[in-house]
Amino acid sequence: MARRKKIYEGKAKILYEGPEPGTLVQYFKDDATAFNAEKKATIEGKGVLNNRLSEYFMTGLNAIGVPTHFIKRINMREQLIRAVEIIPLEIIVRNFAAGSMAKRLGLEEGAALPRPIVEFSYKDDKLGDPLVPEEYIIAFGWASQQDMDDIVALALRVNDFLSGVMYGVGIKLVDFKIEIGRVYDGDYMRLVVADEISPDSCRLWDIKTGQKLDKDVFRRDLGNLTDAYTEVARRLGVLPSNVTHATKPTLIN
Ligand code: UDP
Repeated sequence: MARRKKIYEGKAKILYEGPEPGTLVQYFKDDATAFNAEKKATIEGKGVLNNRLSEYFMTGLNAIGVPTHFIKRINMREQLIRAVEIIPLEIIVRNFAAGSMAKRLGLEEGAALPRPIVEFSYKDDKLGDPLVPEEYIIAFGWASQQDMDDIVALALRVNDFLSGVMYGVGIKLVDFKIEIGRVYDGDYMRLVVADEISPDSCRLWDIKTGQKLDKDVFRRDLGNLTDAYTEVARRLGVLPSNVTHATKPTLIN
């Protein structure tokens, strides 16, 4: 069989040419990075979990009319997606102060914000993804004012959906990051949610105990990352049957 053409390799995922024009295959690796890739590890089973979890969230968004790049899951680590032109922004939505925002403003981690706040970082690893105001985005032509209005509306719909889904399983959605892509149907351009939605790109805290169930477990050395992601998947009922991150065959009762 001919080797698939690799289109792009990032820190946690690889994109391959898809089976039809306008499609790509997105492969989820087990690699984890933090602090702009200064901290790195391979965490067995992470890719499988993120593939499932991203499928779950993207399918839900598609079902409520929030367009995404997701078409279908192909196997344990791969999903078929629409090829999009990624807007070079990280779109961050925050419900509670945490991470860089808590640090920047001297807020306590977990402080409730007066309303959801949407902010933007310019996607550039060399620059460390700097926070940018909308003014820069429009002036430098990364997106138009109309795009920005649509992006904020999309981000807030994603926030409402994800917050509700997580609340239903006893998890608080503190913040998350999404990426947005453009798809072209003839002359017509649409914005869709792209990349992934997973505990790699969200902050998820257990409502009762405050336990962290996201990538902060890795960033801050708080325990086993796969266990945390498995817990999220288990609560959502999307744990792949018969699959654990165990390295040896295990007896299933
Ligand atoms: N985030 C992400 N990728 C990035 C930066 C942030 O997925 O390159 C997510 C992060 O997991 C968190 C949210 O965006 O859920 C807000 O992150 P923050 O700006 O607080 O930065 P961090 O503290 O993660 O450096």
